[in-house]
Amino acid sequence: HAKKGFGQNFLTNPAVLNGIVDAAAISAADNVIEIGPGLGALTEKLAQRAGQVLALELDTDLLPVLADVLSDYDNVTVLNQDVLKANLPQLIAEHFADPAKPVKVVANLPYYITSPILMHLLGTPVEWANITVMMQKEVAERLAAQPGTKDYGALTLAIEYKMDAKLAFTVSRRSFVPAPNVDSAIVTLTQRAQPLAVLPSSEKQLFALIKTCFAHRRKSLWNNLKPYFKKDAAKTAAVQQVLADLALDPQIRPERLSLAQFIQLANALQAAGMFD
Ligand code: SAM
Repeated sequence: HAKKGFGQNFLTNPAVLNGIVDAAAISAADNVIEIGPGLGALTEKLAQRAGQVLALELDTDLLPVLADVLSDYDNVTVLNQDVLKANLPQLIAEHFADPAKPVKVVANLPYYITSPILMHLLGTPVEWANITVMMQKEVAERLAAQPGTKDYGALTLAIEYKMDAKLAFTVSRRSFVPAPNVDSAIVTLTQRAQPLAVLPSSEKQLFALIKTCFAHRRKSLWNNLKPYFKKDAAKTAAVQQVLADLALDPQIRPERLSLAQFIQLANALQAAGMFD
């Protein structure tokens, strides 16, 4: 049945399905948003344990199948929606009987848009009780990557900024039909237990800076920062001063900077008027 281009690999292993619901610690007190219910295997497990389930499926062809599989459950709503375009706070307010209950996201993600979906969830003003998602094992490793490693990047930092990431378990490609070409892992993201030591003066500018800095991974911090000062002599001097004040070597690669260092850098550039 799987349709090309939708990232459709359906889970068939009941132990994995139960493992996901357990990792998300789903209870009757929870509102759950499922991304990409597919043929409804995970949706059904969620319906049995959650208070309410709101499932967002992009593929119109799957809607009749879902209606059939889920016909016994009165606590599930399936919407034909692209999650990346969904206004999640609005859907929560409209579709959950008690929107104040904890909202959890559970999904066997379409892998071609793992990173955009996570960015969309984190950029939405909702305090997720947790986000429990299946992704490519290699991407799961990126989430916990340390500065200076090849896996470390904008996604790592976006997640670290808000959440604690935990790899729950790995899943063989044989648990899916059709089998994907990669192994997978379930990751659970929960709200940060430790608040950040230094907060950014602007989240938007922090993430714009991080994006700029990872645009050319093999270039130095200095070269990556060039879009901010171009050929302006005063601005060039200001950036030099900011780096000197923070004891940051202009020649290091941006991928060596910790989240705390990116926050300090964004705040100092802002204070120096670089974002005006
Ligand atoms: N949950 C099912 C399971 O575990 O067997 C299906 C998972 S499959 C990996 C990913 C699902 O996401 C597919 O059903 C696909 O049609 C759907 N999908 C792909 N892109 C989507 C998007 N932008 N918004 C919502 N659903 C999407």
